[in-house]
Amino acid sequence: MASKLMAGHWKKTGENLRGSSVLGCGRWRNYGADPNIAEIQIPADGAPRMLGHFACRSSWSCDHCARARVSQTRGWLRGALMPALSVAGLSGALVTFTIAHAYGDDWGDVVDRLYKAFSLFDRRMAKWYRKVGCVGKLKALEAPVGANGLHPHLHVLLTYLAGTDLAELEAAMRSAWSKAVAEVGGKVNEHGFDFKADCVNDYAAKLETSHELASHGTKKARGKGKLLGQLLDRAAIGDTKAGAEWLRAQAALGGKMRFHAGGLPKKLGIPCPSEWEEEPADDEGDGGEKPEPVRITYPQVHHLKATGTTGRAGLAAILRSARSADPARVLRMVAALCAEVDRNDTRAGVIQRFADWTDDHFQRIVDEAGARVLRPDEVPAYIEAKARGFVLGMGEAHGSEAKPAEVAKAQAHDAGHGAGTPLDSSAGHDKQGCSVFEPKRAIAPV
Ligand SMILES: [Zn+2]
Repeated sequence: MASKLMAGHWKKTGENLRGSSVLGCGRWRNYGADPNIAEIQIPADGAPRMLGHFACRSSWSCDHCARARVSQTRGWLRGALMPALSVAGLSGALVTFTIAHAYGDDWGDVVDRLYKAFSLFDRRMAKWYRKVGCVGKLKALEAPVGANGLHPHLHVLLTYLAGTDLAELEAAMRSAWSKAVAEVGGKVNEHGFDFKADCVNDYAAKLETSHELASHGTKKARGKGKLLGQLLDRAAIGDTKAGAEWLRAQAALGGKMRFHAGGLPKKLGIPCPSEWEEEPADDEGDGGEKPEPVRITYPQVHHLKATGTTGRAGLAAILRSARSADPARVLRMVAALCAEVDRNDTRAGVIQRFADWTDDHFQRIVDEAGARVLRPDEVPAYIEAKARGFVLGMGEAHGSEAKPAEVAKAQAHDAGHGAGTPLDSSAGHDKQGCSVFEPKRAIAPV
């Protein structure tokens, strides 16, 4: 869907949105990987992912990559950052920064204002940071879309020496934030600044903090509006307002980083979040040795076809089916998606063109075929007419054996594919096809 919206946007405006390589994400093969096979890897304790396929790494436009990035960062927070903080005798405070905005604002301006205010604020707080023993921060940008438009806000994990009294720091930060926002022409509402001290000290706090900093839709975030991935889902079922909001948000967020750890990893001697490779541990913690991941392969041509016109939804469906780690299930899903593409092609072409043909049209083409050699472009109509049971000279006969509808129905039943009326044939297919795409088909694509 993202690909579709972006392609449409290109056509309309000629503007190349950042993150548009989402078109090939999870589809194209990487250079050096076998170009003929599609491959899925299913780790024992993680989500299935495409292996050896191009990944666009767009945190905003690609829901697939955004999810991967979020769980990678969460894994890093709990597996690398929090243990390192504890070893170094440090603690962390979770600080949230927002500014007021309205639906009609230029969303890009809102994002810029937030960042400008934050860098002013950050520079002025430097001496305070030193005072509390801060070794760096993790900055996370979230940007749901709500009734007041794009709501960009920053969650910052601020480090400090454990045991430090933070009352003065909090007060200084609060007023510095108001001042900085006012200076860039913005306004702070009553929830514009939130400060929570000692957020990495016990198990529950660590869990909550890592979810707050890196999540794909906490209850809190959902309360503030729809996530970009949710907008995309709505766009996929014909919600054009959601589609327009999604594009507007993409343009506003552009190259802004979802997570930024600055010099923090280096100071603590740990890898950067983007280098963190371990699968995110689930909330039960580490369960000993990990079994080998399962790998499922199938022809790349099928993968391209299955994920082509159905786009991100097709890819998501394949990866969802791979959670079972059952190759047969994945192959069935790929086959169903390919069949879906074939059916859409058929409907868009041959069959749909005959939807408004009357019996007279069909009869005429069959009669013509008896009288002369048909042109190539007339052949599909002739085949369709034959499939519907029309025979030469039937128009004049009006005989009792001429029951084209009955014949067509019987043939359709026998062949198991669409020879009846176009509507009947597609409805028949839908039952044995993949229900995931039912709503999408019912509504005209954007
Ligand atoms: Zn991607």
